[in-house]
Formats: sequence, structure tokens, C-alpha cells
Amino acid sequence: LKHIISCDQFKREDLENLFQLTDAMRGDLSHYKTGLADRIVATLFYEPSTRTRLSFEAAVLRLGGEIISTENAKEMSSTVKGESLEDTVRVIHGYSDALVLRHPDRNAAEEAAQVSEVPVINAGSGSGEHPTQALLDMYTIFKHHGTLDGLSVAVMGDLFYGRTIHSLLKLLALYRKVTVFGLSREELSLPDEYKRYLEERNLQYVSCRNFDDLPREVDVIYHTRTQTERNLNAGMEVEEFIIDDFVMDRFPQNAILMHPLPRNREIAREVDSDPRAKYFEQSRNGMYIRMGLLYQLFR
Ligand code: ASP
Repeated sequence: LKHIISCDQFKREDLENLFQLTDAMRGDLSHYKTGLADRIVATLFYEPSTRTRLSFEAAVLRLGGEIISTENAKEMSSTVKGESLEDTVRVIHGYSDALVLRHPDRNAAEEAAQVSEVPVINAGSGSGEHPTQALLDMYTIFKHHGTLDGLSVAVMGDLFYGRTIHSLLKLLALYRKVTVFGLSREELSLPDEYKRYLEERNLQYVSCRNFDDLPREVDVIYHTRTQTERNLNAGMEVEEFIIDDFVMDRFPQNAILMHPLPRNREIAREVDSDPRAKYFEQSRNGMYIRMGLLYQLFR
């Protein structure tokens, strides 16, 4: 059983293998397109999603598998009738060969994996982690910079509740000489548990409070939205770190601007035409990385 729960479980070589496989599939799918034949993947989503659910489902279909899905499990599944997540999982694993789960509790994926007889893939667990997002983020960075060592990365926005940030930082910590600049309001700073994790792995983490604290020579700028659904006090009207063309001027020409999407106001629309804006390409990479992951899972 190969559950995918947290980025803790990956090593450098896992990423290298996955990226190679993903590139090979992108180059020529013919060899892989029956990789999931006769497999049924269940997508169980208790929180809203566009990219993650649809890219997982597209990935399954492109590899010849089938999907069963509840896109609004909070209101549309037996949860409404008081069923626990564990019981729901015990039922669904009887119908499917893998279970892709998004849930508002940060321990949900782990709990599901404890009772599931088929692999559980964490597709976002509360303010905890979002490992498959981090894999596609690392893949996107690797495609542009050709390396993941020695990078200087600015992450910004909601570092406290932003699960994509938590997972991304854990993967960056696998690489050498990475420096991360974390730009956020004080109350949305990176939780101490992640700071400790990075410190133990010799990743240099520098907290920043405004754009001027960031060095000009960054390789990656990774913005996130304020997770208002998790922090009801964090009104978006107080968004301070808006990236527009003027802010982009300070960054080098070979830097890339990323965002897990959905974006709110933190990246101005005018920036979309800047060749460094990679967020839509990033979301497309998500489908390919998930194809690679699913293929590996059933190999
Ligand atoms: N789509 C990402 C997630 O599910 C980012 C976000 O929602 O802000 O975590």
C-alpha cells in the first residue's frame, strides 16, 4: 500500500523518478495510456476544488481508468447522516482501487489511510499539507531552472494556513543550499513546527514583512491567497502584498512567478502577460504530475 499523505515521505530520488516518468508520458503517451485500465479511482472531496479534482480525474481517464466521485461530500454524502470519515472510507475502499481525499481536517488523510485497504492520496488536508500540489510545484520550478539546488525562493501570502506552502517547503528542504524568504503579515507567519523542520534540514528561512525585505535576486516568487475559509478574521481587504507590474520590475528576468490558484487580488491581472507568470502552466503541470503519480502507484 502506497499512501501519499505528507511530503515527509519523499526523497530526492522519488522526485527525480517522478519527473522523468512525467516527462516521458508527456513526450509519448502511447506506452502508458492503459496503465490504469480496469482501475477505479474514487475522488472524495469535502472542500471546494477545481484544479485538484479535475486534474486527478483527467489523469485517471487519460491512463484508461475510471472515476467515481463525490465533489461535495460535506453536503452530498452520508456525512450529512452522521457517518464518520473512517466509515465512509471503509465503504469506498470496497468500490475502488485508490481514494483521492480532500478534507478540512489536517489529520484526515492519515486517519483515512489507517482504515483504507486501497492507497489514499491526500488532495489537501485542512491547513496541513497538499503533497501533490507541492510535487507539481517542484516540477514546474525544475522545468524552468533545470535544478532545485541552490535556489532562492520567496513564498508569500498566507504562510500560516496555506497548506501548499507547508508541503512545498518540505520538498525544498530535500535540496542543497536553498534559501527561502517568507513574506507575510505577522499573524499569517509560517508556523514554528515548519520553521523547526527547515532548520533541522539546514534550509535557511528568513521572515520578511515587506517587499523591500526581499532580495532582488530571487529565482522563484510563490504567492498564495489568504485562506479566509480557515481564518474568518483574516479579511481580504487587508491584503498587503499585491504583485503588479511595478512590483515585478524589481525581480530578475529569469525568475518565475507561481501561485497554486485560485487567486484573489494578490496578483494583479496585468501581470498575466508577463512571461515570468507561470501559474496557468503550473496548473497544467498538475495533470501530468498526477498522471505520473497514479501510474507509479499501479505499476
Ligand atoms: N488550491 C489550493 C489549495 O487547495 C490553494 C488555495 O486554495 O488557496 O490549497
